[in-house]
Amino acid sequence: MIPIAKPMLGKEEIDAVTEVLSSGMIAQGPKVEEFELAFSEYTGCEYAAAVSSGTAALHIALLAHGIGKGDEVITSPFSFIATANSILYTGAKPVFADIESDTYNIDPERIQEKITPKTRAIMPVHLYGHSADMKAIMEIADDNNLIVIEDACQSHGAECLGKKVGSFGTGAFSFYPTKNMTTSEGGMLTTDDKEIAEKAKMIRAHGSKVRYMHEILGFNLRMTDIAAVIGLVQLGKLDRFTAARQKNAEILSAGLKGIAGIVSPVTKTNCTHVFHQYTVRAEKRDQLAAFLKEKEIGTGVYYPIPIHKQPIYRELEYRDFLPVSEKAAEEVLSLPIHPTLSSDDLQEIVKATREFYLRD
Ligand SMILES: *Cc1c(COP(=O)(O)O)cnc(C)c1O
Repeated sequence: MIPIAKPMLGKEEIDAVTEVLSSGMIAQGPKVEEFELAFSEYTGCEYAAAVSSGTAALHIALLAHGIGKGDEVITSPFSFIATANSILYTGAKPVFADIESDTYNIDPERIQEKITPKTRAIMPVHLYGHSADMKAIMEIADDNNLIVIEDACQSHGAECLGKKVGSFGTGAFSFYPTKNMTTSEGGMLTTDDKEIAEKAKMIRAHGSKVRYMHEILGFNLRMTDIAAVIGLVQLGKLDRFTAARQKNAEILSAGLKGIAGIVSPVTKTNCTHVFHQYTVRAEKRDQLAAFLKEKEIGTGVYYPIPIHKQPIYRELEYRDFLPVSEKAAEEVLSLPIHPTLSSDDLQEIVKATREFYLRD
């Protein structure tokens, strides 16, 4: 079976973890700080705060900006549930703006229509490894005095206008094992704002800067040194991982070219695509997925149900009609793209997909 995702972990990660375990210092410590410094430098941000997950990074980003009850945050309905749920956690209301049909990212024109006097922030998602339209989004934010919190959980190292994602507003990254780099579970908040960075670090540790002095309400959302050293090794390999993903994408796109039932992913001018997913729009999507499964090729549908149609959002009285997202949910299929694929694997994927559409 060619899996849809596979973390690349080697001897360096194992040795680094062994060293931390041997030291006996296994909670948040000096390695977390080292990882924060390395990650902030990588993204071109002044500050970074390591946390327990991408979800925690989103949640803390909102809280650090003071977003809560009575506030509205405009976000994408075509994402992992964590994006919108992080807004719910704070008591604020997620407001969904439909997406662009080519990048699957939030559509700036649709954002504009959703702004009300209660809107405090925009939370774009850089889906599949491709930046949202940050030029337009930052302009809307500036014009309307809104905060921007970027869900960069799928886009480590992706660029827009020569700047890395996560450095436009406050960034949130995930290091879950299927992401472009991993720490096992883990996340990172990035910012140029010293006050936000300090607040984030307090919120992750029970609102405390000085031990046993709790200034604000916080949580336990820390990262461990065990996770941080995995992250340090993985960050050193990230550009190589990304190059391998991009090369695999080129091979797939070349191989799938000309198939009438398939629309390959696009990379917009002024953007780099880091291909967290290689996602096509596919005619007879579910049949194709079943056919590929028979051929031992794993695929994924990210995401089959837009967030506004999830049961918990229906329960919250969400009744939006967001046609571009709803259509995408029925048509998208992600093919394996991770760096561990061999050229034989890639040829298999192309061959099987061609075979499916040529059969009938
Ligand atoms: C993975 C992911 C998250 C959540 O990250 P976790 O580390 O799993 O909490 C949030 N948003 C998007 C778009 C993701 O892909």
